[in-house]
Amino acid sequence: MQITNLNPDSDIGASAWLVDYDGYRLLLDSGVHPEREGREGLPLFDKAGPEPIDAIALSHCHHDHVGSLPVAIRNFPSAQVFMTDQSYFLVERILHNSVNVMMRQRSELGIRDYPLYSHEEVDEQASVFQAVGYRKPIDWVSFPRGQRKSSPKLEFFDAGHTLGSAGIRVTGGKQTLFYSGDVCFHDQTLLKAARFDDVQADVMILETTRGGRALPPGFSREAEMESLATAMEETLDGKGSVLIPAFALGRTQEMLAALSMWMKAGRFKRRPIYIGGLGRVFTEIYDLQAHRTHRSHPRLRLTEAVDLKVVSPQELSRVGLKDGKIFLMTAGMMTENTGAHDLALRMIGDPRQSIFFVGYSAPESPAGRLRAAADGSTFMFSGAGGELTRKCRVEAFDLTAHANREDLVDFVAQVQPKVVVLGHGDTVARSWFAQTLRQRRPQMQVLEPGPGERVAC
Ligand SMILES: [Zn+2]
Ligand SMILES: [Zn+2]
Repeated sequence: MQITNLNPDSDIGASAWLVDYDGYRLLLDSGVHPEREGREGLPLFDKAGPEPIDAIALSHCHHDHVGSLPVAIRNFPSAQVFMTDQSYFLVERILHNSVNVMMRQRSELGIRDYPLYSHEEVDEQASVFQAVGYRKPIDWVSFPRGQRKSSPKLEFFDAGHTLGSAGIRVTGGKQTLFYSGDVCFHDQTLLKAARFDDVQADVMILETTRGGRALPPGFSREAEMESLATAMEETLDGKGSVLIPAFALGRTQEMLAALSMWMKAGRFKRRPIYIGGLGRVFTEIYDLQAHRTHRSHPRLRLTEAVDLKVVSPQELSRVGLKDGKIFLMTAGMMTENTGAHDLALRMIGDPRQSIFFVGYSAPESPAGRLRAAADGSTFMFSGAGGELTRKCRVEAFDLTAHANREDLVDFVAQVQPKVVVLGHGDTVARSWFAQTLRQRRPQMQVLEPGPGERVAC
């Protein structure tokens, strides 16, 4: 088998792996790079060569895994496209939203490559999307060729990272492959941990997001949640407002579940939660899919348990901050021209307001610069916002939806692969895995293909 890393960056970047599997070709994920503009953010499709691809399989619907799917389908029109049942409900919404964002960026920032695809193209392609249940092996080659009489199989395993997320196993050839996707080995508030218990494979592709991060001694997710609840109580009691920037899919629903429970328990009084339109759409899909999701609180309907108030960035600018409001805003990076960015501009200089982070922010984004700024210091927030002095409360809580690094190392021990291919992490994160895995399993081969590089396994 040969595996080509199509990610254009050596950082987390855009996930896309081309697998040459006993004469057949499979593309695992087709993401876009969250911090690159235009075509620069696309996977290196030209490194895939001119031969057709038999199938594209998606691990989950986050942008860095699915954002370039229409371009991949345009390049490889004969490919079948597979995803989990739950991703099937999400994917068109994600792609249409992405067209809207690209159109806006074209007009506001003059990025001429945008949009990379159109609403019409997404609508046309949607007819080839195929939904597959977890643990249901399916044929991914329509017309087996040459020596082979039957198609190899692929199978989705619940990854516990976000609604519909999956690890993907490929079998039926000389070797078995397992792709972790983004995976979480601990329970979140809603979603339960990954169910990869019986997975074994000869070759695996492993995400390494948290390789650079050791858990502090005594860390527990429960204690982290408790600190966030207390910090919110303190702000709201002081008549200040709280802004939690969160990705629309996954993080938003996990936070809504926690907020609904804290309100129910009387930690703070029930009040509307201000949210973006896309966050609301995905929250409805979380509710609709609750019965088919491996989760805690299966009967909790988020849209009923909390009062969601959908606001556009324009409406948001007119909402007062003095009487304890809660904002759960899409745009974890607080990029310019988003509600989260403009709201932060109004909050940063006010000691009564709080901005609480519950996920990753790139260091060079406005959110990353705000997180790095000490209380009372002046820092460059963004081009539009300029230099600001931070007086508001800023804290980060580790409520990750990614596996901790030791859990991933344990998982490798369970899978017992001969070869591990490392990806989806920055250089520091990958190095930790490379070093640790080589030390603990010296007989195993550890590969780190760079952008566009092909490795034989
Ligand atoms: Zn993800
Ligand atoms: Zn990811």
